[in-house]
Amino acid sequence: MFVASGMHIFAKNYGVAAWALLALLFLLYPHVQYWRAARAADSVKTELDNLLIDSFLLGLFMAALEFPLWLSFAAIMATLTNNAANKGWPSVPKNVLAMLAGALIWVTVRGFKFSPDTGWPLTIFCMVGICGYVLVIGNVGFQRNLQLRRVREELRTREQELLKANQSLVVNLQEIEALQQQLREQASRDSLTALYNRRYLDTTLDRELASCKREGKPLSLIMIDVDDFKKYNDLHGHQAGDQCLIAVAKTLQASAKRASDLAARYGGEEFLLVLPGMDATAAQGLAEELRRSVEALKIPHEQSRGGSVTISIGLAVMTNDSHKDVAGLLRAADEALYHAKHGGRNQVRLATQTRRAARVAESVAVNLVQLVWHPAYESGQAELDAQHRALFGHVNNILAALLLERPVDEVAALIDTLIGDVAKHFEDEEKIILAAGFPGAAAHAAMHRELIAHAGYLVSRFKTRDLDRGEPFQFLAHDLVARHILGEDREFFPHLSA
Ligand code: GH3
Ligand code: MG
Ligand code: MG
Repeated sequence: MFVASGMHIFAKNYGVAAWALLALLFLLYPHVQYWRAARAADSVKTELDNLLIDSFLLGLFMAALEFPLWLSFAAIMATLTNNAANKGWPSVPKNVLAMLAGALIWVTVRGFKFSPDTGWPLTIFCMVGICGYVLVIGNVGFQRNLQLRRVREELRTREQELLKANQSLVVNLQEIEALQQQLREQASRDSLTALYNRRYLDTTLDRELASCKREGKPLSLIMIDVDDFKKYNDLHGHQAGDQCLIAVAKTLQASAKRASDLAARYGGEEFLLVLPGMDATAAQGLAEELRRSVEALKIPHEQSRGGSVTISIGLAVMTNDSHKDVAGLLRAADEALYHAKHGGRNQVRLATQTRRAARVAESVAVNLVQLVWHPAYESGQAELDAQHRALFGHVNNILAALLLERPVDEVAALIDTLIGDVAKHFEDEEKIILAAGFPGAAAHAAMHRELIAHAGYLVSRFKTRDLDRGEPFQFLAHDLVARHILGEDREFFPHLSA
């Protein structure tokens, strides 16, 4: 435009003012606009706004040059194309108006002069200029399209990659979740038997109990201990012992038939079966079945009574508030298990509270029983028989006190005296059987010590009211009299008469 305008001013010989205007518009003005745009907060916007001023000045300049046709055409074409390419269609009418305004102002001030013809060199120059400009704009469009296509292509590839990464993340997440699940499962299982372990049991039992309490349902707890397992290990080796535990655990797992039943390894050769919602009668049946199933495995155990591996079972049932908490329930089951062991192993025993709840009528009848001495109980050794007879009397007194619900302190005092007498009697008896040459004297003395120890333990718990009255009853009538005096003692009777 600069060159074309210069050619035209020269050809028409317009004079110094026209040259000055040319220099102002094409040499100075662009720098002012550039400087403004560069300093603006939004340079691009300022530059685009400048296009409107450009159009205005172009209109003014064309009027000043008396509207040369080819030059005006080339300038207007370039300006409008530039606007359409950079600002879109709506900018075209605005710029046309700006040009008209520029031309109008010039015409108003200097008067209308119209001299449209240009010389042929300028005409050709303008044609080539327009062509060049349009080609350049076209090429810019083409380059941008190309760039756009490349960007789109790249975006699509990135999207695919993202999708793939996302899929692999999902797979990884699933793997992690599966692993976590596996870890949780492993952490709650016993590695030898695959039953639940004690940690899991501790966290679950509270919850199960609370839920049964809430729903007013009972919860049965079966505690299992393998009989004479130490001897089994000693005899068959630890590895065989492990296999034995696995076999017992399998039987146990098979007994936990309902989804809510929980079989766990509680300690070395001790197991627990938690049966939510199961009452004492059903649980007792299940315990008995379990005991028989283990017996039926017929795992050889030469040093056990039946010749095969057996288990002892203690059963306690939580109904309403029969036990204070999980610890109380576990203790009751443990005590029942203790009685099962003491009663000769391979048997099921119910916790006192459970037994009472299960068979109220039966316990009334049992409680009415008093011990009656019979001549058949006599050994023939006068001193010993007198002592046994006296013990019977003592025990009856205590049983009566228990039945009559005498104060705990009174009963405890009676038991204390009895234990004193029993200890003295045991001492005498041990001397007598030793003198009589009874070969089982040492073993028998060990039984005495166990009985005294258990009596002491019961008394201390009885005094702290941690025990109900049924337990001393069971100990005195069953453990001490029925089993020991009338049972184990009979073994040395033949030696005394000899
Ligand atoms: P009782 O009839 O009174 O229960 O006698 P017991 O010998 O079974 O009782 P005790 O508790 O004295 O012995 C338990 C034995 O169990 C001792 C221990 O070596 C063994 N034991 C504990 N855990 C395992 C185990 O994981 N594998 C094996 N093989 N033996 C174990
Ligand atoms: Mg044990
Ligand atoms: Mg055992």
